[in-house]
Amino acid sequence: MLAPAMSERPSRDALAEYTTGARMLDTVGIVGFFGATGLAVTRLVNVEGALWEPLTWVLALVGYIGADFFSGTVHWFFDTWLSVRTPILGSMFVRPFREHHVDQTAITRHGFVEVNGSNCLATCPVLVAALLLGTDSAGARASVAFLLALCLGVFATNQFHKWAHLAEPPRAVRWLQDAHLALGAEHHAVHHAAPYDRHYCITTGWLNRLLDRIGFFRRLERAITWLTGAKPREEDAALR
Ligand SMILES: [Zn+2]
Ligand SMILES: [Zn+2]
Repeated sequence: MLAPAMSERPSRDALAEYTTGARMLDTVGIVGFFGATGLAVTRLVNVEGALWEPLTWVLALVGYIGADFFSGTVHWFFDTWLSVRTPILGSMFVRPFREHHVDQTAITRHGFVEVNGSNCLATCPVLVAALLLGTDSAGARASVAFLLALCLGVFATNQFHKWAHLAEPPRAVRWLQDAHLALGAEHHAVHHAAPYDRHYCITTGWLNRLLDRIGFFRRLERAITWLTGAKPREEDAALR
């Protein structure tokens, strides 16, 4: 079942609960992310001329765009399906998305661990794969650059999202937003406006207009409803 019965819907207070277990897991994820990223970057730059290989930069760009697509897909999935009561995924992933729609500024009061832990944890298996690839060939180095840029984008997503909700972001953050390297506040505001089903990408937002135009998520929703009978955004709509 992808959504709970309405009588079982959680209270708003339950949405704000950040458990000790979740914090510990998030901390492990952050340590893993920085440790593995540092090691992979060091290995890459230690190869003479690696930073001058065009394929490395092309695939790094593709990786960063991939992170935006990944952010949109994950965001759409947890906004649209499951419940805060779904085992494991509910408290770790669904809860922050539900809370964010009820209280958009809550994310601006969350600390670094709560904002970034889940995403860091998700990057760890990918970073292990990047380390296993090695740096012996140009293809391997470009693949490592792709995975590193992807993971960097995934890591940055929630931080960029938090910054998009700050009333007065620091100057450096504003520069990143104006350069479209990080999610812009006005661009992201479209997601929080009715009908609440657009602009899911929250790393840079580069893919939002394209995905909205081709009805990417509506098509996926129709397929999932056809397969499971679940209605999209049922719990989310009940909580607004
Ligand atoms: Zn959302
Ligand atoms: Zn938001």
